[in-house]
Amino acid sequence: MNSGAAPPAVAQPLTALHGVGAALAERLHRFGVQTVSDLLFVLPLRYEDRTRLLPIGALLAGTRALVEGEVLLAELSHRGRRQLLVRLGDSSGSITLRFFYFSNAQRAGLQRGTRVRCFGEVRRGSLGLEMVHPEYRLLKSAAEPLPLTLTPIYPTTEGVTQGRLRALVRQAFALLPQRPLVDLLPAGADAAQPALTLEAALRFLHQPPVGTDLGTLASGHHPAQRRLAFEELVAHQLSLLELRRQTRRELALPLLDGVGLKTRLENTLPFQLTHAQRRVSAEVSADLARDQPMSRLIQGDVGCGKTAVAALAAARALGSGYQVALMAPTELLAEQHARSFERWFKPLGIEVILLTGSQRAAARRKALQRVADESLTLVVGTHALFQDDVHFNSLALVIVDEQHRFGVQQRMSLHQKGGRDGRMPHQLIMTATPIPRTLAMTVYADLDVSIIDELPPGRMPVRTVVIPEERRSEVVQRVAETCKRGQQVYWVCGVIEESEEIDHQAAIEAAAALTAALPELRVGLVHGRMKPQDKAAMMKAFAANEVQLLVATTVIEVGVDVPNATVMVVENAERMGLAQLHQLRGRIGRGTQESSCVLLYRGPLSEVARARLMAIRDSNDGFEIAQRDLELRGPGEMLGTRQAGLAQLRVAELVRDADLMPAVRAAALRISTDYPDRVSALIARWIGSREQYGRVG
Ligand code: ADP
Ligand code: MG
Repeated sequence: MNSGAAPPAVAQPLTALHGVGAALAERLHRFGVQTVSDLLFVLPLRYEDRTRLLPIGALLAGTRALVEGEVLLAELSHRGRRQLLVRLGDSSGSITLRFFYFSNAQRAGLQRGTRVRCFGEVRRGSLGLEMVHPEYRLLKSAAEPLPLTLTPIYPTTEGVTQGRLRALVRQAFALLPQRPLVDLLPAGADAAQPALTLEAALRFLHQPPVGTDLGTLASGHHPAQRRLAFEELVAHQLSLLELRRQTRRELALPLLDGVGLKTRLENTLPFQLTHAQRRVSAEVSADLARDQPMSRLIQGDVGCGKTAVAALAAARALGSGYQVALMAPTELLAEQHARSFERWFKPLGIEVILLTGSQRAAARRKALQRVADESLTLVVGTHALFQDDVHFNSLALVIVDEQHRFGVQQRMSLHQKGGRDGRMPHQLIMTATPIPRTLAMTVYADLDVSIIDELPPGRMPVRTVVIPEERRSEVVQRVAETCKRGQQVYWVCGVIEESEEIDHQAAIEAAAALTAALPELRVGLVHGRMKPQDKAAMMKAFAANEVQLLVATTVIEVGVDVPNATVMVVENAERMGLAQLHQLRGRIGRGTQESSCVLLYRGPLSEVARARLMAIRDSNDGFEIAQRDLELRGPGEMLGTRQAGLAQLRVAELVRDADLMPAVRAAALRISTDYPDRVSALIARWIGSREQYGRVG
């Protein structure tokens, strides 16, 4: 492999290409393509084989095919929508091409007798087989050669057609001899694909030759794909390392807690810390004492007591005379944290300020004033914390709860809120989404990780049962009995992720049915469409045992803490992800009473759905469940769509290419020490100016 010299000189602007003016360049910019060579990194999503012509008479509905023939008839039809119908025939038969949108020039081009080659999906229509809006080309002679490569299908971008994009990529390749692509990986870095240069891999993927196995390409295991995936993962790794290095270079306020507030809090907590909590808290304290900003992630299964560890960190900062901000993913959770922290900190003379999006203007103004003026405050809130009008007086520690709900970017923007006298705040991130190690390397490469691997003592493991919908009435009976014993119940209505509408509708109906069936119980309802105040009021009523049966959508998924709730029923459990079910189930088993979780499903179950339900029934261990989830569903679901940046990988896939990670990590470290001049070029090449990782490059 060419181990290349310095990064290429000034990049060529897109307008250097034929046919690209300011308008098209602008459209491509919006798509993340700034320069000619960026085009080479817009990789096809899939391919189509247009190297073979099919006789029209042999076409089958439901397939995609390339055909060639002569226009037998072209007419405008006004039956229904205005449309252009073209009859195309060869010696074996004929087919209709149907266009709803067409220009006059297009219409004029499709004259009777013209030869046309076209590709599209064959469907059964009112006039026999047809193609709607096929891609087509007018042929000048009968013997125009067929392409020798598979046809790439690129991610679509508004205002740039596939044909246009293909032509631009071809031009970009043609310009390569003027400015060759430099291989930036050190020789031997990618032991699996040693012979493939970057250029060869790119050429192959944009123009796979006839005979390339489409199956291998679709599986992502072709050496050219692996070569690029490797480099892409190296680039991402470098950007995270860079972020980490920059954070390390910054100064932070060392938090020494001269007044011993942390110890005082620890002594007033209503429980003894577990060993794991103590160990992690000590790791955090050691970080906080330094004059470099901490970037630490606390991973721990639901219910392991991360909040208490966060509170101790907060005490250390407050005891040093500075402010703390705690950011939660939902208002519900922010308000709950505010309550816990108030309970713990009020006796120590420290007040909690709540800052959420739904606050009334006057309340918000007052809160903002205090955040700006008072140094000794604990501010709890949602995304509202990092809006522009929030000015902290002396922010020294940022705590982010349930990190998988926030992107790296959001984390960074809160981080930048600090910065008094050039000192950045420390950052503590808490997540209950345990992820396997190879994934963690990618997702959390910029963080130090502490793990709380122990639950508080006396917890009864939650017993989980899987029950078909037909036995619903038995379950309702059991709910009644539980509440009669003075305990409380969650009834969660299954999520259909795409449809919040159906979701909350289902919850409303379930609440109505349960109210009718159980007249002796007070039944409450929370769903995402309710006003935040109403949601919070309902949660408060539930926490106070004024409501015994709470029907909810998955708004209660994260972090809600009502120890007296001992039964959870989940409807349509077969539709939910394992991580989500595990999170939900974490809402019970928080007290010392035996708890159980009932997963109701609607049969018949698919193989995968059955495997998922069995996995959650048989394990209470978040890591084990995460591993199963990963195997059964892939990382997108698991990390959540908001894990920005990683969703943007072009070639690599976190699970499929996980085996590359150790070598990727080694290569990234080697490049950053031995070839520091290549770092920004690699990041620019793969991540570009999208700044997914903050101030990179
Ligand atoms: P999570 O890690 O899921 O955020 P929480 O911090 O909400 O868990 O803690 C779950 C429950 O356990 C809370 O009611 C909390 O007060 C309690 N808890 C935390 N630590 C301990 C402990 N060491 N002993 C007993 N209970 C604890
Ligand atoms: Mg929590």
